[in-house]
This record gives sequence, structure tokens and C-alpha cells, in this order.
Amino acid sequence: MHNSVLFTTFDPLRDAPELCSACKVHPPIFHYEFCSQDENEEPLSRKGFCCEVCAARLLKALECEESVEWAQEEAALAADNLDTTEFRERLASLRSVLTRSD
Ligand SMILES: [Zn+2]
Repeated sequence: MHNSVLFTTFDPLRDAPELCSACKVHPPIFHYEFCSQDENEEPLSRKGFCCEVCAARLLKALECEESVEWAQEEAALAADNLDTTEFRERLASLRSVLTRSD
């Protein structure tokens, strides 16, 4: 199962609200669609317009959902006595991309 967040641009004169639909504080800069799907649950989809701050939050939310899945995957590997070193390195490099703040 995969989770996703999709950001697209929009025509500000035609189809956007004046404020971000998540925080209702800043003007929106993207249209977004956030989808998550658990094996046992109905897919969850949220759509709206978001500001820069909330776009970063959506990415963080995606990272958190990924982290849960990766933790489960790592636990499964460890339970089978498999080497998790490569898995940890992959996880660390992906996280560094998501959390870089320069
Ligand atoms: Zn916002």
C-alpha cells in the first residue's frame, strides 16, 4: 500500500479560495491531494488548497505514515533474523532529504 501527496498549481483567478483550507490563515500556493491507504482500511483522501507552511506539514505527515510502515517492515526483518543495516541506511538517506532545512 502506498501513501501519496500531490501538489499542483492552480489558476488563482478562477478556482481557489482566498485562504489555505488547512490553516485558514495564509493564502494558498498549491492545490493538494493527500492519500493514505492501510491494508485493512478504506483509502483516505483529503483535497484542498494549502499554503507553504501547510505544504511542509503535509510532507511531514507523509513522512510519519511512511515511518510507521518502515518500522513495521524493519521489525518483520528483525524477527526473521535478517540483516537490517541496509534498510536502516536507506531509511536515513530518505529522511535526510525530507527533513533538510537549508
Ligand atoms: Zn495553511
